[in-house]
Amino acid sequence: MTARKKERVFRGIAASPGIVIGQAVVLSREKLEITQKSIPPDRVEEEVSRFLDAINATRKELEEIRKRVLYRLGEEDARLFDAHLMILDDRVIIDDTIRKIREERLNAEYVYFRIMRDFHDSLMRSDDEYLRERGLDILDVKRRVIRKLQGAESCLVSPEQGMRIVVAHQLTPSQTIMLDRNAVLGFAIDFGGKTSHVAILARGLGKPAVVGLKDFADQVEDGDRLIVDGNRGLVILHPGKATLLRYRDLQEKYQRFLQALIPLKDLPAQTLDGHKVELGANIELPQEVESAIRHGARGIGLFRTEYMYLARRDFPDEEEQYQEYKRVAERVYPHSVIIRTFDLGGDRLVIGDMKLDEENPFLGWRSIRISLDMPDIFLAQLKAILRASERGNVRVMFPMISSVEEVRKAKELLHQAMEDLDKRGLPYDRNIEVGVMVEVPAAVMILEHLAAEVQFFSIGTNDLIQYTLAVDRGNERIAHLYTNYHPAVLKLIKRIVEIGHKANRWVGLCGEMAADPLIIPFLVGIGLDELSVTPVLLPEVKKLIRSLRFNSMKRIVDEILEEDVAQDIEARLQAYLQKEVPDILEVLLPQFQNDKNERGHSV
Ligand code: PEP
Ligand code: MG
Repeated sequence: MTARKKERVFRGIAASPGIVIGQAVVLSREKLEITQKSIPPDRVEEEVSRFLDAINATRKELEEIRKRVLYRLGEEDARLFDAHLMILDDRVIIDDTIRKIREERLNAEYVYFRIMRDFHDSLMRSDDEYLRERGLDILDVKRRVIRKLQGAESCLVSPEQGMRIVVAHQLTPSQTIMLDRNAVLGFAIDFGGKTSHVAILARGLGKPAVVGLKDFADQVEDGDRLIVDGNRGLVILHPGKATLLRYRDLQEKYQRFLQALIPLKDLPAQTLDGHKVELGANIELPQEVESAIRHGARGIGLFRTEYMYLARRDFPDEEEQYQEYKRVAERVYPHSVIIRTFDLGGDRLVIGDMKLDEENPFLGWRSIRISLDMPDIFLAQLKAILRASERGNVRVMFPMISSVEEVRKAKELLHQAMEDLDKRGLPYDRNIEVGVMVEVPAAVMILEHLAAEVQFFSIGTNDLIQYTLAVDRGNERIAHLYTNYHPAVLKLIKRIVEIGHKANRWVGLCGEMAADPLIIPFLVGIGLDELSVTPVLLPEVKKLIRSLRFNSMKRIVDEILEEDVAQDIEARLQAYLQKEVPDILEVLLPQFQNDKNERGHSV
């Protein structure tokens, strides 16, 4: 009989609410490494074809990347990929690999890995610097071919194994979006903060998640039993009987709380004294509109279109985008959808699966900057959005705006797109509303000027906080500095609402902050027109708004704007809710309370 493994509790950051109990599937770094397997004689030719298919698929991928680099950076940079293509198509390497697969009857990834490793080592011993520099190209080509052979990413977890809790050091947005959602129970991830993209995606999928667990993944094995407590930011490895019982009870309580919210679905988000706020949903993929409606969203406050790209690593063309945008617009009609143009870059990979080698990607070639540099791709998207606007319920929004020039350039392209549709005789909404995200402090400082250019603003606090406080939103080491309650952040929001409203502009907020129960009284009290949150959190946000008075929220706004320390602001907000809605606070607060504690440790 094996000894029962000791229960251990790990503290991380509560990234997506809910509690799940299940078995782990560990996406360790080693998963992408190579094991040697023998191939039965009658399957050898199949293995050779599998290898050649991987070479062809990699060639396509590299050619695509070369094309995009040429477009963006010019011939000289694009030429770097010629070296990759030459290595990939090297006849000696290909013939050698095929010969060895046949002779030694071994799997293609193992044989290719060995040959490329030897090739790499021999180049590294060369005196020629140019040849030594090709070493990196070899490693890159090797990794790409092997990933194709392993079908990595698309089949990291499959439903056949039963639903599992995904454990990993790090998951990129594209890895996350490619996971089969029917196979995933929840997430326990070492990297990332509350507004990192893996956290946002987990919420979008409605799966409990804890991130920022530091070195948890190293301590777990496939099949280990885990509890992920996405409300409190805890992960429990090898839970004992008593813990399991307690968690089943907590799970049930949380479910009951959610059940009790169902009847709110069709009621407005209206305070006890009659002040109404629009409640929208944030979606990452078009099909999530169904979840938004199920959870009672009136419209879509943010459609993050770049995930359509990340899910397939290629820009969908105008027609494909049009079909998807139209589907969402029709589904929410007569309410509206705010379609945000591609916001790639940062940690959302840009070209193929090549990470742009930038020192500071969040301050680099990101978002509207990419769109303006790639006008063909941007125009295709704008035309698709315009065509979907025919019934008048689509609004278009530009992300990461930091200057008036950027908005003017984007609008120029929008007009160009309109002219093209006119020529083609295609209908669209000529009065489509144009808005910008306010997520860079510079935009706040020039808001009056931006108001002259656009009809609406949506505050992106995920980025606004990171750019204002100089705190990387995805870095778990400094997650304690990333706070919704910093007086600078609250003053910026106040300024945006005041200037926006003075110019008669609609002002919404679509950052993750809109779902933080502690800060909601501030956001409503300050007079925001809309809060837009991930669908699963809509009922909780609505419940809170419907349980409070607008007048008392206005008072709390004045009080906390007097405070100068984030912790004091947080304490005041907590005391306010404790007084007004103790029962709601008891269920919701754990999700927002654990960030100050030390993380990644067994507790
Ligand atoms: C934000 O920055 O607050 C936002 C909503 O956009 P994203 O999280 O996609 O950067
Ligand atoms: Mg943003």
